[in-house]
Amino acid sequence: PYPRAQQQEELCLVCGDRASGYHYNALTCEGCKGFFRRSITKNAVYQCKYGGSCDIDMYMRRKCQECRLRKCLAIGMRPECVVPETQCKAKRESKAQQAQ
Ligand SMILES: [Zn+2]
Ligand SMILES: [Zn+2]
Repeated sequence: PYPRAQQQEELCLVCGDRASGYHYNALTCEGCKGFFRRSITKNAVYQCKYGGSCDIDMYMRRKCQECRLRKCLAIGMRPECVVPETQCKAKRESKAQQAQ
């Protein structure tokens, strides 16, 4: 299904895996795209176990989510591109709940 005309493989800027295209404003693989989306939608907070400066590659991306997410942001992935609409809806709902 994919065209094979590309001269060189484009690599995910986060982990170096084969990129599938631009996701949330940066060139990434499907794995990092999904990871970023899940992290943002769940408002996930990760904790690095290795001192906070992991070099993310295809191996480390599974080991350290905090550094992976930080690298996603560092290479230009945009949280506001993930779910503007559902986020607004969730905010409205939580506000409504707080008001009671
Ligand atoms: Zn990746
Ligand atoms: Zn780390």
